[in-house]
Amino acid sequence: MNKLRLQTFIFLMMIPGFFVGSKNLYAATSQESKKSNIILIFADDMGYGDVGIFGHPTIKTPNLDKLAFEGQKWTNFYVAASVCTPSRAGLMTGRLPVRSGMCSDQKRVLYDNSKGGLPESEITIASALKDAGYSTACIGKWHLGHLQPFDPNSHGFDYYYGIPYSNDMDHAFPDSVNYFEACANPKPGYFNVPLKRNREIIEQPADQTTITRRYTQEAINFIKEKKDEPFFIYMAQSMPHVPLFPSKDFEGKSLRGTYGDVIEEIDWSVGQIVSALKENGLEDNTLVVFTSDNGPWLLFNENGGSAGLLKGGKGGTYEGGMREPTVMWGPGLVKSGVVTDLGTTMDLLPTFCNLAGTQLPNDRVYDGYDLTQTIAGKSESPRDVVIYYRGQKVFAIRKGAYKAHFITQPAYGMGGPKELEIPELYNLNVDPSEKYNIAEQHPDVIAEIQILLKEHLASVVPVENQLEKY
Ligand code: MG
Repeated sequence: MNKLRLQTFIFLMMIPGFFVGSKNLYAATSQESKKSNIILIFADDMGYGDVGIFGHPTIKTPNLDKLAFEGQKWTNFYVAASVCTPSRAGLMTGRLPVRSGMCSDQKRVLYDNSKGGLPESEITIASALKDAGYSTACIGKWHLGHLQPFDPNSHGFDYYYGIPYSNDMDHAFPDSVNYFEACANPKPGYFNVPLKRNREIIEQPADQTTITRRYTQEAINFIKEKKDEPFFIYMAQSMPHVPLFPSKDFEGKSLRGTYGDVIEEIDWSVGQIVSALKENGLEDNTLVVFTSDNGPWLLFNENGGSAGLLKGGKGGTYEGGMREPTVMWGPGLVKSGVVTDLGTTMDLLPTFCNLAGTQLPNDRVYDGYDLTQTIAGKSESPRDVVIYYRGQKVFAIRKGAYKAHFITQPAYGMGGPKELEIPELYNLNVDPSEKYNIAEQHPDVIAEIQILLKEHLASVVPVENQLEKY
């Protein structure tokens, strides 16, 4: 050891705690373990009005209701699109799906024969959290591309278990049965969807009557296995998207019929996951977020859900298509209350990154805001604007209480588009059902929102469309 090195060594020994290298290492590890765990539960096609605490008169959701009482019930929380694939792309990337090529006017979602998917260049919640030292699991429906370059394992998830796309795909029902009949009266085998563990198909067709229960068990196993390290679980339920397959324990139990059975089973699943957190002593340092990917699929009548007092449903840009029943819970992290501020699923990426103590690269446009201060009850939501896309077109924009529609169209499969010469304008705080057009009284508000539209469109760079690749 030369003289300079020896002097440096003696100096460092004098710093309290330096010499005990193992102690410092322990301190670093202990710090790491204090990062909050995150569980994101995403229902499929559950409407704003399908949860007890959001007003359903007969569907019983005691677990979600309790989480909402103890945590936060968000009443103005939105998704990035009103159908599965683009909604999930927005959630995973914190960016409007138009920026990643994950929405289309021709094909609304990816199908089982699609060749495209979420580009590798996109940064997902899982890849960001994995870089921050999290163990990551995706359990359930992915629907962002089932081919290898786009699958969960290629997008930051250490573990995947689930049906990779919608539970009504891979049609295998007889020619004598049409699609709507097959969904309304589903039989095992009508939908030849695979169940995968990572990249391996472990069952086909997946037995959907036990799928909610099995997803739940997988989530519990992951919690137990990873309880000593920070983890992120993205639990994307395959239902209440049709076909509806409640398990034997829930079949016929709900006053709301089969749809209610399925929601009550999903609620049971939420309760099981929270119990697992408590049993492993993780409830004070875990954030649980529950929401849905889009509004109810109204074409399926009583087998579809309800948007409650909101207009429209899945596929459309009226509130019922894109405002979702959202609950956030975490006794150590979430200030209890009802939040009427604006939030979207695109805000979850920056929020989770803040909780994980990591930052996103600044080489791309994000459409999300960090909600951690709002979740902690320390400040209002930083979000003031919501942009409503249908396919690749902006149909409406909300600023504060006001929402202007530039193009209107009923929910999925229920009518064509209408371009409006004068936008329709609604005050959503006063009129959440979008009944009373107040455009004539507020031309200034419309003009302001039209400027926002122009600014937003100027920020969109055309990219390769992923949903039109076959
Ligand atoms: Mg959906």
